[in-house]
Amino acid sequence: GNETAGEGGREIVAGTASGFPPFEMVQEGELVGFDIDLLEAVVDETEYELTGWEDLEFDSLQPALQNGNIDVIAAAMTITEERQESVAFSDPYYSADQSVLVAEDAEFQPEELADLEDREIGAQSGTTGETVVNEDLIDEGLIGDDQYTSFDNYVLAVEDLERGLIDAVVLDEPVGETFQADRAVEVAFVFETGEEYAFAVRQDDGDLQTALSDGIAAVEEASDLEEITREWFGE
Ligand code: GLN
Repeated sequence: GNETAGEGGREIVAGTASGFPPFEMVQEGELVGFDIDLLEAVVDETEYELTGWEDLEFDSLQPALQNGNIDVIAAAMTITEERQESVAFSDPYYSADQSVLVAEDAEFQPEELADLEDREIGAQSGTTGETVVNEDLIDEGLIGDDQYTSFDNYVLAVEDLERGLIDAVVLDEPVGETFQADRAVEVAFVFETGEEYAFAVRQDDGDLQTALSDGIAAVEEASDLEEITREWFGE
């Protein structure tokens, strides 16, 4: 029993994977971003107490959740059927599609996935962008296994793109737009996937799942979500 967090609540630790601007990134040594502000505002609406953040690789978040090192994932994580087999999601808090990034001023200007045929492609390990590469490019025979590079994070993928080591990166559209603003890369095209981001908890943590969904609704109601969106997306 934890006395400070109140009835039904307890202390929790959040996990994220920085390098995914503007949702989570490290600035001047500090973990900041949309997900950081949102989860903190959401937990403030509950009886739980958020005591800290673990910044891990995206691929390590689910294992860390299962073994109890963290209690909630806040990492622009898309609700998928496959993930629902191992985690429980809150209500969604953000909608996104996928995009394809190329180097700024590149000669290569793909307009659709088919144009990526025989190119060198990158994505971040364990993401829905990687699923697109596997299912729509490799399985379709557009590129070979060896033409795909799986990176630990998207910053490394963007660096290789800037250096011309790969031809394109597949990633969530809002993050593609942010890299376009900050790095020598540009969004070549966007394609609809209708993804919904949510917080993930362990399947036996139904109380926390419900509390987070209620917290999201409360933050929306108070217009705090609008304010956080304005802060990180400037709209
Ligand atoms: N939304 C994507 C996914 O869930 C990417 C998330 C991320 O890279 N942080 O796979």
